[in-house]
Amino acid sequence: MGSDLVVAAESLRDRATSYWDASPTEAKCLVRPETTEQLSRVMRICHEHRQSVVVQGGLTGIVQGAASTAADVIVSLERMDAIESVDAADGVAIVQAGVILQTLQEHVADKGFLFPVDFGARGSCTIGGAVATNAGGINVLRYGMMRSVVLGLEAVLADGTVISSMNQMLKNNTGYDLKQLFIGSEGTLGVITRVVVRLYPQTSSRDTAMFACASFDAVARQLSVLKTNLAGTLSAFEVMWNSYITAVTGDGGHVSPLDRSYPYYVIAEAEGADPEADAERFQRLLEAGMECGDIVDAVLPKSEGERRALWSIREEFEMALPAYLYDVSLPIRHMEAYVTRLQERLLAWREDAVFEVFGHIADGNLHIFVKPFADNAHHDAVDAIVYGCLEGLDGSISAEHGIGIDKKSWLGLSRDDDELELMRGLKRLLDPAKLLNPGKIID
Ligand code: ZN
Repeated sequence: MGSDLVVAAESLRDRATSYWDASPTEAKCLVRPETTEQLSRVMRICHEHRQSVVVQGGLTGIVQGAASTAADVIVSLERMDAIESVDAADGVAIVQAGVILQTLQEHVADKGFLFPVDFGARGSCTIGGAVATNAGGINVLRYGMMRSVVLGLEAVLADGTVISSMNQMLKNNTGYDLKQLFIGSEGTLGVITRVVVRLYPQTSSRDTAMFACASFDAVARQLSVLKTNLAGTLSAFEVMWNSYITAVTGDGGHVSPLDRSYPYYVIAEAEGADPEADAERFQRLLEAGMECGDIVDAVLPKSEGERRALWSIREEFEMALPAYLYDVSLPIRHMEAYVTRLQERLLAWREDAVFEVFGHIADGNLHIFVKPFADNAHHDAVDAIVYGCLEGLDGSISAEHGIGIDKKSWLGLSRDDDELELMRGLKRLLDPAKLLNPGKIID
């Protein structure tokens, strides 16, 4: 099968556990197949020997969904990194699982297309990992999560069986939609090897603004105004609470283009096809927002550099770390009550508790950082508060990060017993020997 197919355990000590954890990778070995057939043979051998297998992508996930132990074999699809085809008529690309997200975005952009799923880890995460974790990010309000842009896929099951569900059409109503079993399964039901993704026409205008609001009601109202009046071109609406802006701007952080004392900040971006008219409409809506008092201050970037600087406030938050990272979702109507409840309970837990909130909100998603962070000393206590505050608010303990190991014990807050039993049934059906990514999502 080729001499560099297998990386031995001792060589793995040079590989970091993940983007977030520099300690060396633990495993029996790492296997790097070049083809689906090779992977199928590897999986068959592992199955015969009852050998557990952990699949790894770009290792940018934050719930330990790709964590391995010294007892596991790691499969990496880093050598299956070809963009096999781009079909301009259908707006479809066929890509192998090891392709880096940004590579795909740039490749199809050269052909006039947009691959719309986008998030901060674009330069190192892989398509296979993004599909396996149903990644979300900043454009979800317009294009949906990874699940929405996958038309078909190929996966290798625990026993080596290759399931080829490489559908290329938007319409194909032929029974159970098998690809959905693997999307978001975090490597527990099969190894995704190739994916058919949907492409969108590239946009030719882009208008961006950062603005401040005095109340959450004003934020929610402006989201509604922009969604309604931008004719579907609103592609991002990122909200940052004052706590977040205070943490990432100022001394040692970003330069805030707006006064740092407002309660809420928004980065809104619209992408359309008529630069002049789109810019005029975008500015008119912001002016109307200021006239009605919803928007209390605003800045429009005058260059791509200024635009990138605005986005860096949202995407580069190292100065706010280390912290416990959370990723919950709930309906917009409950968000303000949730954050108020969270503040009360965190301060009741510890007077010196600090937390920062930001998120995509149009898709229900809030990210929360909580400190003090003392390694993992307070992890369970903080988990209990952050997830406990969701009670009665129709929320979810994971908006886009998945479950992995970190959120496994809390899954029962978001899924009922019948749902969990059906999940276990699917796992028993597809991986009866429990060899794939053991210990993740469910036991
Ligand atoms: Zn996010």
